[in-house]
Amino acid sequence: MKKFVPILLFMSVLFTLFSGVGQAASASIVPKLYLNDQLLQPKVAPQLIQNKYTIVPIRLVSESIGYKVQWSEAEKKVTIHSETDEIILNINDNIALVNNNKVQMDTPAVVLSGNTLVPLRFVGEQLGIQVKWDNNTKSVYLYKTEPQPPVEPQPPVETTPPVEPPVVQPPVVTEPTGKLTDIYDDGFGGIVINYEGTVTANKPFKLDNPKRIVIDIPNVSFSDKLAQQFVGAEGKLPFTTSAYLQSVRYSVFSNNPVTSRIVLDLYSDADAELTAGTNELRIHMTEPQPPIDPGTPTNPPTTPPTNPTNKVFNVVIDAGHGGTDPGAKSIIQGKWEKEFNLSLTLKVKALLDNEKNINPLLTRSGDTYPTLSDRVTFAKNNKADLFISIHANSNTNSTVTGTETYYYRDASKPLADIVHKHLAKSTGLKDRGVKKNSFHVIRETTMPAILLEAGFLSNASDSAILYSDSAQNQMAAAIVAGIKEYLKLP
Ligand SMILES: [Zn+2]
Repeated sequence: MKKFVPILLFMSVLFTLFSGVGQAASASIVPKLYLNDQLLQPKVAPQLIQNKYTIVPIRLVSESIGYKVQWSEAEKKVTIHSETDEIILNINDNIALVNNNKVQMDTPAVVLSGNTLVPLRFVGEQLGIQVKWDNNTKSVYLYKTEPQPPVEPQPPVETTPPVEPPVVQPPVVTEPTGKLTDIYDDGFGGIVINYEGTVTANKPFKLDNPKRIVIDIPNVSFSDKLAQQFVGAEGKLPFTTSAYLQSVRYSVFSNNPVTSRIVLDLYSDADAELTAGTNELRIHMTEPQPPIDPGTPTNPPTTPPTNPTNKVFNVVIDAGHGGTDPGAKSIIQGKWEKEFNLSLTLKVKALLDNEKNINPLLTRSGDTYPTLSDRVTFAKNNKADLFISIHANSNTNSTVTGTETYYYRDASKPLADIVHKHLAKSTGLKDRGVKKNSFHVIRETTMPAILLEAGFLSNASDSAILYSDSAQNQMAAAIVAGIKEYLKLP
């Protein structure tokens, strides 16, 4: 599990609304606080400060999303550890330290009845939470969602808007086998489509200018309820929780056979992943996967070392979290990420001990918590040639599955590609690819450094694999194979 770069689409709206509300009704407003649509019950309610800024209890919010919070009474200081960052807040001070960098907050952190409250904007920006204000219910909605990739502008490929390709029409008129009954925002950037009868969607396809994804569902009509929401020929659902989706449109695309069309209007290129449940289809938006290119990489930033002969490489294996920081909670009762990370790390170490050209070094070999900067310093002090951080992932959506590998500096990309190739094969889970993200340990280190997310502890079948001893042996062997291939060791 790790922190992601937040996209705060709502901040300006939010604060405009708040300021209007404040002037009208002053301090009598007590905003309600929701996290992922669950009402939080803070001992001290969020407060409106200077009729402008909302402050929220930081411990409750941080711990609700799995970050560790420490309070030092002597220093009047709150320390929050996310996956990647250390955030220090001093009471009555509006300067926070994020990885030792000063970040100014709108108002100082304050203590009310023993609870520290900090500005909502800071919470959104530094804890990677999407923030939304609902003026009707006077509620603050916080969403902790999947990591969002950086948006890369794409040059337009086509100069004229293409016509959406027609569905091939069979010669016989068929009755609909199913009916779509509801389409809604799942609150985590995805879509839920409820249906009755038999519904099988076609594979999504992409169109440009503007960017959109089209999903046709043959032999399926709309319920009266959905049909009544149509304006003209289509219904439209605007989106507020997604970094990719602007809106979802739905219409009858063809009457012979009856075919429903769902169009996902995108901000930027993305992939749509369809999963089927009982009487529901879920559409989950993901970062676009690059086309598979078996050829040479177009822009290899660094080449792996060549013919090391007798060189001994220092390879740091970093078991994520540990001690008082358990990491992500598994869907399996009582199991935490830190245990998986350490168990796999020790297996990798045992295998590397047999390699005469590799000197494995561990940032922790027991249930302890070295800070993120301790781990970076350890790698630097040991003149590490490689740094590999082992983690397991988590998502609020328990259907999300798969293996992914992160790098940050371009020099780490070849290592990420090679180790990921082996690791994804060994878990047998969905290959979520190699991704770039600014995690502390892979950003602040100076040698090729990657962070592995073997699978999702929030997913039942991923969890079963991750805690399986034999699967861990295969993952450990795969990581070692990746290291050796990268280092060109026999
Ligand atoms: Zn983690």
